Amino acid sequence: MFEHRVGFVSPLDGLNLNQIAPGRRDGSISEILADVLLREVIGAAEYHIDLHAGDLEELLLPFAGYALTGRPTSTGWVRPSRAPTRRASFPSHSRRDDPALVPTALLPLTSHLLPLACCPVPFCSMIAHRATTFTESVIREMTRIANQHEAINLAQGFPDFPMPAPMKDAACAAIRGDINQYAITWGSPALRLAIAEKYRRWYGMEVDPDREITVTCGATEAMAATFLALVDPGDEVIILEPYYENYGPDAILADARPVFVPLEPPRWTLEPDRLRRAFGPRTKAIIVNTPHNPTGRVLSRDELSLIASLCIEHDAWAFTDEIYEHIRYTGTHHSLASWPGMRERTVTISGLSKTFSCTGWRLGYAIAPPPAANAIRKVHDFLTVGAPAPLQAAAAVGMAFDAAYYNHLVRDYQERRDIMTSALTEAGFRFSVPDGAYYVLADFSALSDMADEEFAKWMTRDVGVATVPGSSFYHDPALGSRLVRFAFCKKTATLEEAARRLASLPARV
Ligand code: GLN
Repeated sequence: MFEHRVGFVSPLDGLNLNQIAPGRRDGSISEILADVLLREVIGAAEYHIDLHAGDLEELLLPFAGYALTGRPTSTGWVRPSRAPTRRASFPSHSRRDDPALVPTALLPLTSHLLPLACCPVPFCSMIAHRATTFTESVIREMTRIANQHEAINLAQGFPDFPMPAPMKDAACAAIRGDINQYAITWGSPALRLAIAEKYRRWYGMEVDPDREITVTCGATEAMAATFLALVDPGDEVIILEPYYENYGPDAILADARPVFVPLEPPRWTLEPDRLRRAFGPRTKAIIVNTPHNPTGRVLSRDELSLIASLCIEHDAWAFTDEIYEHIRYTGTHHSLASWPGMRERTVTISGLSKTFSCTGWRLGYAIAPPPAANAIRKVHDFLTVGAPAPLQAAAAVGMAFDAAYYNHLVRDYQERRDIMTSALTEAGFRFSVPDGAYYVLADFSALSDMADEEFAKWMTRDVGVATVPGSSFYHDPALGSRLVRFAFCKKTATLEEAARRLASLPARV
């Protein structure tokens, strides 16, 4: 019988099952630990693990001081012995003095267990605290689960239809034309010029392409670089909730303190007093994402005016995420930087992924007043050097598309939204119809009592439609436990097939 002893040490706050074993959220934590340990590291047929809670109070306390003994099942899952033996009880900190235990940070478990199994070296110092305080992206994880079950992926928001041909041609021409070396760090002159022209044309905004634009690897990098460039440790950043999952880790990486303000269901509106109360002396910035992921809300002129006045009153930044600016069904897209007094305190972030259906190109940008742009450019330079040069050349072609392209984009998305919303209504979901973006955040209470993660997994496996569990859009998972998010940036044929599968849902739950 293989015997191995494992001790757990901090920093592991915020740990959840997903961090321990991405993609395996079935079973108890002890089963998952044992499974990973056995299958990926030790390869043993039987196992014996001592569990110590220590700093993992919340998750492991129920198992503290127990020894698990068992053997893997034929499915690869581990079934611990029926009655784990209660061993010694380990007070929280005693394990550090116990030479028999191998202290280890558990994350990432798969890459650290091998050395752990072989040598008694303390691994706790190998992982920085900040990397243990957030999970891998649930959205991207759901894509992997969807692939595994060959489900229709309405989880991660990427189109399954092609991007515009002229841009593809321009990219190929750029590569063949030897535009394959670094572009200027903050973006090729042609693309920055095209972005500036677009902002003049669409929003009446004068942007200096030489001093105010930084082209980045996706809007994701633009937001992260903006946090790192403008937010100091301890600063507060206001995030409207539910929120796109990246903002949480962005705040953590910058050592900022997120302050969450709810968008109120069912219409996901902003309650003025709650927002006012969130602003204070430590507020450094607010993230303004409109059209909104995951609710599809398009913030109104009044809501943006309130945000603008609070930013001015409290001398705070607005970091906008306008990646869905051209995907709207009703209302107008308002760019906060065009508000009086906001240009000098707004970082306008957007990108090409959604507008030109090219999420894999990773092209985004930040527009900021020169001193801020300077700081963002420096962070961007040392993070990535620059975005792919030939794709920047092709992006400039897309930025010059005329109104016909955008009208077409909206018409197509409207059709997709209508297919999606009728399918969801018919299946028994409750939701507010999105005004923009390409998501529906839907309440499944009328269909099932399962928690969101379980429901999303069940849907992926048994119905063949993958979604994102609602909890991944909330700082407190309980707030999203009755919700799942559907992305409808898919061909009508894909959505019609999804609708057909969803129609079978009420009979199956
Ligand atoms: N923004 C998209 C979504 O919310 C894609 C996320 C991602 O994986 N970068 O699904």
